[in-house]
Amino acid sequence: MADIVGMYGLHPNRAGFCQCPFHKGDRQASLKIYAKDFNCFGCGANGDIFTFVQMMDDMDFKQAYEHLGGTYAKDTESRYVAHLKAYRADKKRQTLKRMEADKRTRICSNNDDISLYRLYLKILMPLSDLWCEVYNKLQYALYMHDILNESR
Ligand SMILES: [Zn+2]
Repeated sequence: MADIVGMYGLHPNRAGFCQCPFHKGDRQASLKIYAKDFNCFGCGANGDIFTFVQMMDDMDFKQAYEHLGGTYAKDTESRYVAHLKAYRADKKRQTLKRMEADKRTRICSNNDDISLYRLYLKILMPLSDLWCEVYNKLQYALYMHDILNESR
């Protein structure tokens, strides 16, 4: 870890602290450098060598890994795989969440449509052109209602 921060011109003191590059005016040197991690007691920035490079150079994990890869590939391969797995699992979770939320809004708006159409049918003159049009729309909305609720 100390090697990496050294690459960015930061040199931890004997206690392992150096000025934090992630928040401004760190005169007290709040960034503690551990063997494999860092933690800033001023702004709370923390992570491992990859996080550090990611934050310094505005890279994603993959870029940071490749950037450091030549030197650190050996002992980091398994960490990279673990990182990637966690990242993918997280992506999947987010996508599922979004799909679920999206379906819920569709069900809500469909339910709104149904009650609106039913109201129109009561007000409009039965079998008039408009009434028929609304009636068709209601049938379609009811049909969608079944599909949406079945796939729940
Ligand atoms: Zn900081």
